[in-house]
Amino acid sequence: MRNLLILGGGTAGTMIANKLHKRLPRDEWRITVVDRDDAHHYQPGYLFVPFGGYRADEIVRSRHHFIADGVELVYADIDRVLPDEKTVQLEDGRHLVYDYLVIASGTTPRPDQTPGMLGSEWRRSIFDFYTLEGAEALGRALQTLDRGRLVVQICEMPIKCPVAPLEFTFLAEAWLREQGIRDRVEISYVTPLDGAFTQPVAATHLGGMLAERKVDVVTDFMIESIDPDRKVLVSYDEREVPFDLLVTIPVNMGADFVARSGLGDELNYVPVDKHTLLSTAYDTIFAVGDASNIPASKAGSVAHFAVEVFVDNFVEHVSGLPMTRAFDGHANCFVESGDDKALLIDFNYDTEPLPGKYPLPYVGPMSLLKETHTNHLGKLAFRHIYWNVLLPGHPVPLPALMSMAGKETPAAQSDHQEA
Ligand SMILES: Cc1cc2nc3c(=O)[nH]c(=O)nc-3n(C[C@H](O)[C@H](O)[C@H](O)COP(=O)(O)OP(=O)(O)OC[C@H]3O[C@@H](n4cnc5c(N)ncnc54)[C@H](O)[C@@H]3O)c2cc1C
Repeated sequence: MRNLLILGGGTAGTMIANKLHKRLPRDEWRITVVDRDDAHHYQPGYLFVPFGGYRADEIVRSRHHFIADGVELVYADIDRVLPDEKTVQLEDGRHLVYDYLVIASGTTPRPDQTPGMLGSEWRRSIFDFYTLEGAEALGRALQTLDRGRLVVQICEMPIKCPVAPLEFTFLAEAWLREQGIRDRVEISYVTPLDGAFTQPVAATHLGGMLAERKVDVVTDFMIESIDPDRKVLVSYDEREVPFDLLVTIPVNMGADFVARSGLGDELNYVPVDKHTLLSTAYDTIFAVGDASNIPASKAGSVAHFAVEVFVDNFVEHVSGLPMTRAFDGHANCFVESGDDKALLIDFNYDTEPLPGKYPLPYVGPMSLLKETHTNHLGKLAFRHIYWNVLLPGHPVPLPALMSMAGKETPAAQSDHQEA
């Protein structure tokens, strides 16, 4: 028997286990998934928790329920990988051997990385919504907000779901209007980027939406520390932003075991070939999903599209054949914008988000870079697709690689304007 060991049973690890269980001969392969617990979280649902949108039981399910019978699931904290011995050491002292290893341990918010964040104001006036506990605590704090300064702040890129802080800002602005207290609450969006988003067309579009909603945008803000006594954010260039309620996206980092194994970069992400996801150091190790260092968004959609390509390549690689498919960094993200509307953005390594229609060219029904109610319904429907289609590894009728069909390129847009 050959052993495939998958570290992490989240979005990517679950899909990989289920898809390869169908593809690899069962009398030749043993597939094992390791995760620390049995709670699988639908993380995109965290966004709605502070506003009463989802309860915990709607976004947390048993992990084992989604992993195919025949795949072994081991509950343990991973201590380290010993790549030369093709062995993984677990914190409880057990060892697991592998022929091929997939690191799918994701990325985690690390409030401990910013001085002052975990001080006296943590979960009093400083909150995150990248964890379920954080999102629930923030929901309670919002109920007591009556006036003052609400600051939404990103510590450092990359973060998972880079549009989620914008979505939170749009939803908070709409929620404050609904509560009748918008005029008493100033909102600031504080980012280390030079605009609202990483990509120029989307940054202009999303920046315009923040301006329309009278959200003050503070750019190029590299946080040095938080002073909890004075309730201010302090940057390396000595600027200060005061807050009454801070919603922070802490530094996101890959798993510590990746660093202990000597397999990570400075943020514990595993260096891989961006097209095949094969480790640049070992040809028996892949990293898929948020755990790798590919220059794509850290998002469930990217994990899904990458898994489609990875599975075909993996089957070739273990048969001694060259890998013939190349992942293009395809990302597809809904951006909730408040008032039951959302935008959709679709992009890859080389092409930035552009206006147009998706998935059917000229038809949609989704609109790219445009706020519509249909996009919002798509975002809500995604939770059902996640549990019932994506995780079990069923085919999704969307191409894994990005398509230009239906997209309005800058050249096409200027031809249209001239006509
Ligand atoms: C607020 C928020 C909103 C989001 N919204 C969207 C969205 O709208 N669209 C979208 O596409 N994506 C969204 N995402 C991102 C998406 O959830 C992630 O990109 C996706 O889950 C990544 O999958 P993954 O398998 O790489 O990592 P994960 O799903 O995080 O899985 C990693 C697994 O590894 C396990 N693990 C890690 N370290 C260890 C260890 N030492 N020992 C044992 N087990 C370990 C963890 O327990 C976990 O189960 C959002 C994320 C957040 C936080």
